[in-house]
Amino acid sequence: MSDHPLRAIRHNALPQIGNAGQERIARSSALVIGLGGIGCAVASYLASSGTGHLILNDFDTIDETNLGRQFLYGPDDIGKLKVEVAAQRLAAINPDIQLSTISRRLDPVELKTVTGDADIVLDGTDNFATRFAVSDACVVTGRVLVSGSAIRFEGQLAVFGPDYTKSCCYRCLYTEADESLQDCSGNGVLAPIPGVIGSLMASEALKYLAGMPLANTNTVRLFDGIENHWQSLRIAKRSGCTSCNKLR
Ligand SMILES: [Zn+2]
Repeated sequence: MSDHPLRAIRHNALPQIGNAGQERIARSSALVIGLGGIGCAVASYLASSGTGHLILNDFDTIDETNLGRQFLYGPDDIGKLKVEVAAQRLAAINPDIQLSTISRRLDPVELKTVTGDADIVLDGTDNFATRFAVSDACVVTGRVLVSGSAIRFEGQLAVFGPDYTKSCCYRCLYTEADESLQDCSGNGVLAPIPGVIGSLMASEALKYLAGMPLANTNTVRLFDGIENHWQSLRIAKRSGCTSCNKLR
């Protein structure tokens, strides 16, 4: 039982979650990979909502150019490890949860172990190499992957798994050939757009951890932040996928 039982009262009032769902959330662990603009929103909502154990993974340090959108950090944090500062802020947001930090890039074997230890994985990283590695670990361990990205005024959200014989994976959506796509450092990004995507990632995770059925797999949602317009595209399992197709 939390030391602050009234924190969850608005979740408890939701018939789809209730006391039982909130208790499931409190017993759950989530691996948050990437503590940038998306990860700050993801981790903040998972922490404030009482997710029992958050595992934070990012090897980056805080740069002044991060501050506009990465709201867990301030000017005094420049040069410090993102995971260390994030863990301090999240502990202040909710002292009842457990926080673990991993401040190095995990190799595929380590990534598989850490992924297997979590109930769900949330990827807000900004490069394809990491995204592919995270997806592969989720496919092998049968974990749900909530994936998000943001650039310019645009965002993207997708949920994969946990049964990858039926669900497509991140490699069904993108191939190595797409690696030339640019990240936000060269393109710019409107500060709240990663927050929009990260908030929805946290929403998807909390619903799943509470025991609600996953409704959004095999679909990628694209957000146009200029028109405030969403578009949903179905994703098919790719017959030549080098990751999830092996499970068939
Ligand atoms: Zn696949």
